[in-house]
Formats: sequence, C-alpha cells, structure tokens
Amino acid sequence: MDCRINCGACCIAPSFKQVVFGMDHPKHAGEPCIHLTTDMRCAIYGQPERPGFCQAFRADPLFCGSSREEALAILSDLERTTLPLSQGCTAFSSQNRPD
Ligand code: SF4
Ligand code: SF4
Repeated sequence: MDCRINCGACCIAPSFKQVVFGMDHPKHAGEPCIHLTTDMRCAIYGQPERPGFCQAFRADPLFCGSSREEALAILSDLERTTLPLSQGCTAFSSQNRPD
C-alpha cells in the first residue's frame, strides 16, 4: 500500500529504543517524533540523519490499517503488547524496523 497523507501514526505511536537525531531521549510511545511536521510529513526524509528503521519501514495494511485512527490504534496496541519482550523497543519487530 502507499503511505497515506496526513497520517504520521508510525512516527507517534511507537517508542524508539534509539535516540533519534535531534532528540535528547529515546522517543516515548505516543510522543510525536521531533521531525514530524504539522502536516504529518518527515522533515528529514531523504537525509542521512533519518533513522535506518524509518527508511526500512514500509506502509502495510497490517500496521497501517485503513485510516490514521486505525493505524494509531494498531500501533499503540502493538507497542503495549510487545513492550515487555522488547524492553521499550519499537512496536515493530526488528525484522520490520531494523536499527
Ligand atoms: S502508519 Fe502507515 S500510512 Fe501512516 S504514515 Fe506510517 S507508514 Fe504511512
Ligand atoms: S525521523 Fe521521520 S520517519 Fe522517522 S519517526 Fe521521525 S518523522 Fe517519522
């Protein structure tokens, strides 16, 4: 699927175990990435500072659902259910978001 406009759910719902360029702490679940613009685009898209796991992630109905609200719900749920195993890693498996 194509990444939908005005979504940004994958830049908000998951926590990141890495400190993203420009942030002074690993992003918390539900916290917008510092590079997420007000129109839900990545301000560092195409730049080397963009994390590898962002570059590797592809829009997929499994994670993105059929709406922004559904994506936020799915990704938040994944975050909650995977948190104990990943100790605060992203909602995505290392296969989907390698770092
Ligand atoms: S959750 Fe999916 S559709 Fe939404 S911005 Fe991320 S990749 Fe795109
Ligand atoms: S760096 Fe860009 S793609 Fe990655 S989480 Fe932040 S805004 Fe989203």
